[in-house]
Parts: sequence; C-alpha cells; structure tokens
Amino acid sequence: MARTVVIEAHGGPEQFRIVDREVGAPGPGEVRIAHKACGLNFIDVYQRSGVYPMTLPAAMGMEAAGVIEAVGEGVTHLAVGDRAAYAAQPPGAYCEARVMPAAQVCPLPDAISFEEGAAMMLKGLTVQYLFHRTTPLKAGDTVLFHAAAGGVGLIACQWTRSEGITLIGTAGTDEKCALAVEHGAAHCINYRSGDWVSEVRRLTGGAGVDVVMDAVGKDTFEGSLDSLKPFGMMISFGNASGVVPPFNLGVLGAKGSLKITRPTLFTHVAQHETCQAMARHLFDKVVSGAVKIRIDQRFPLDQVADAHRALEARTTTGSTVLTL
Ligand code: NDP
Repeated sequence: MARTVVIEAHGGPEQFRIVDREVGAPGPGEVRIAHKACGLNFIDVYQRSGVYPMTLPAAMGMEAAGVIEAVGEGVTHLAVGDRAAYAAQPPGAYCEARVMPAAQVCPLPDAISFEEGAAMMLKGLTVQYLFHRTTPLKAGDTVLFHAAAGGVGLIACQWTRSEGITLIGTAGTDEKCALAVEHGAAHCINYRSGDWVSEVRRLTGGAGVDVVMDAVGKDTFEGSLDSLKPFGMMISFGNASGVVPPFNLGVLGAKGSLKITRPTLFTHVAQHETCQAMARHLFDKVVSGAVKIRIDQRFPLDQVADAHRALEARTTTGSTVLTL
C-alpha cells in the first residue's frame, strides 16, 4: 500500500485527500518506483483547479524521484535498485510508490540527490526544450523571462548564463528580482511596481528582445508582445495569472511580423529516446555545476494543501518538494 494524494472534484487545495492505494506489479513497459521525494509544479494547480480538466477521481502530481522496485517486460533502460527520476504523464506522482510507464523515467546520476531530482525534472526539461528545441537561440541573443525567481525561472537564469544568452527577468518583489540576478539574470524588473514594458525597451536600447518566454499568461501577454523586436518570437507556455483570452492574429502583423507558439513539455518528451537525451543534457548541466537546483520549500506529503496555497500566493521561490 502507498499513501497517495487524490482529488474527487476540481477546486481549491481543500479538495486533496490522502488515500492508501494498492501499488501492484508493473506490466509490459512499466516500472514500479518507490519515491523518495515528489516535485510541486504550477501545472498541478491547473489540474487541481480544473483549468486543465482531468478525469475524476484523479491522482495528482507529475514529477518525482526514487528507487526502481520492479521492472515490467521489455524495459531495458532501468533495473531493480536503480535511482531514477521523471516528469511524466499520467498524473499520480504525489505518492509513496506507484506503477507507471517506464519510457519517461530516467536513470538519475549518483551526483544528484533524490530531492534535487524531484525538484528539477519537470522544470529543468522545460528549460531544456525552451532554449534548445523551440526556436534557434545563440549566445548574444536576449530573452525576456517572466517569473524569473520561480522554479522554472531560477533554472532558466542559470541555464542562459551558461549559454551566453542575456536573460532579462521579471518578478513580483524586489527580493525575488535580486535572487534572479544572483542566479544569472542580466537584469530583473519588478513588474508589480511600474511600466515593465518601457523598462525592457530601455534595457535593450529601444530595440526589444529576440524572444519572450511567458508563463504568467493573462496579465503579461500584451506587454510581452510589445517587448519584442520585429520578427521576434513569443513563447506562451503557461498561465499562472489566468488563461490568455482569444486574440486577433492580425495583432502579430501590426506589431512587427511576430511569431507565436504555445508549447507543452509533454509533446517534447513523448518519444522515449528524445526524453532520455533531454534528461542527459539537463543532468550534465547540473552535474557540471552550471545549474544548481535550489529547493526553497519542503512540505511533508500530508501538507500538500499548504504547499499549493504557498505556490498560488506567490510566496515561493525556486523549487518546492513534498517529502516522504
Ligand atoms: P513558479 O515557481 O514560477 O510559480 C509561479 C510564479 O508565477 C509565481 O511565483 C509568481 O511569481 C508568478 N505569478 C504571476 N502572476 C501570478 C498569479 N496571479 N498567481 C500566481 N503566480 C503568479 O511555478 P513553476 O516553476 O512550477 O512554473 C512556472 C510557469 O511555467 C507556470 O505557469 C507553469 O505552468 C509553466 N510551465 C509550463 C510548462 C510547459 O511545458 N508549457 C512546463 C513547466 C512549467 P512572481 O511573484 O515573481 O510574479
């Protein structure tokens, strides 16, 4: 049996229930993994609240790290006793142990702790695809990155520093801005205290940025488009402030032949080999020290509701893990 966090209805953090579930044996292409720590991500908030609807009742969570306890037929990249970590569907990572598809479960290097593994897979693989698989980016390019002191944000700050890309961050307090700069942002603007679009223009000598990476959504979408150079690329990859309302494509022409994409990690990691290669790239960044995984909040599994409240209240920085 394994303690598992489930919801029976969409809604607030009060919807969480902890139940004991039979774990069972892995079938073909599956593994059984005993978790050591679970990761918290903003996608979990969308799934809990119903912004991203789920079939209910549903187990929650998309990211964890632990030890492989059993492997099903046909699984060759993992063996019993291996350390492993993942960001994967279906949800169900907020638990002590589970059976799940093996394709997106990755062998975790010894140099990376279980907590770091749980804190970095979903966020770090997202940074990997944003900077290497979405639009060509090279040293010297300038990127505007919102919520730069968050879980994905602090990894992005360090990643760009290691690649010679200039990251202009935004964040909701001066303290968060200082944290983003400490982690490699060239500049960070407190977007709750003034006209951040003009500040982006000023910092780029009036030119605007090559790419915007915007997972804040509704509150920043317009300003993000206004921060781009002609032919610039808008990567809208989340909606922490609310879903971006439908908009007129003609706006992209009027603002300078802009491009826009709305990616999701789970398309990028759908193929086993691609997922494993992305993970190796991420692990290299962390093992080399170029990217340090910063865990600023830890909550026991049974306090998952408090963890969600903190994330939604914008009081967290860096990554958050659920401990077991
Ligand atoms: P974060 O740790 O970045 O937390 C979200 C941050 O968003 C907050 O700390 C806050 O920072 C900012 N924010 C702005 N407005 C609001 C609001 N109204 N309510 C709450 N937060 C707000 O979360 P994650 O690192 O887990 O994820 C970052 C974003 O990236 C999320 O939107 C997530 O959905 C997205 N994402 C998308 C993926 C994809 O493939 N499409 C994959 C992974 C993540 P501040 O106070 O500084 O404004």
